[in-house]
Amino acid sequence: MDVQQTLVLIKPDGLLKSLTGNILSVLSETKLKIVGAKILSVKKELAKEHYKELKGEPFFDELIKYIQGEYHTNRVLALVYEGENAIKSVRHIVGSTNPEKADPVSIRGRYGRITQKGVFENAIHASENEKEAEREIKLWFKPEELTSISYPTESKEIEKHELVWK
Ligand code: UDP
Ligand code: MG
Repeated sequence: MDVQQTLVLIKPDGLLKSLTGNILSVLSETKLKIVGAKILSVKKELAKEHYKELKGEPFFDELIKYIQGEYHTNRVLALVYEGENAIKSVRHIVGSTNPEKADPVSIRGRYGRITQKGVFENAIHASENEKEAEREIKLWFKPEELTSISYPTESKEIEKHELVWK
């Protein structure tokens, strides 16, 4: 079977509810390895690009607010998992999108809820298929942030201003 990489996000509700440890423990059952991890505050541009396929859905604006942390905390934990059949293994343990329909022992079944506005606050994101995994990993991580690189890279000189320690 294929060695794959997949993107996982612990969403702001997961962080606010201190579910990080629990969720990582459940994911460790897959025996996949973490090859990238960072905590970040999600800018609007990144949020919209990540969910661009859902533009036009009635819940889109609320979803962007949710992932940016308007209702919880402005932090998301982004991870890349690698291993055999990683995409399906993680999706399986994550459970269905709708937390009310998700298997009760899946991550979303255990920790998700539906808000009064109808948004599925389901604590975690996981890439759906190989195409999405590649797009999402490249969107959230630079090659140098991963301990294992599975897509082609090139060397490029980039001029930029960076915040450094004084
Ligand atoms: N979502 C929602 N209502 C819906 C469908 C999706 O609130 O009817 C939210 C939910 O947080 C979901 C995210 O939008 O995780 C992305 O939707 P997608 O259909 O891609 O589901 P996922 O891939 O996350 O299972
Ligand atoms: Mg999706």
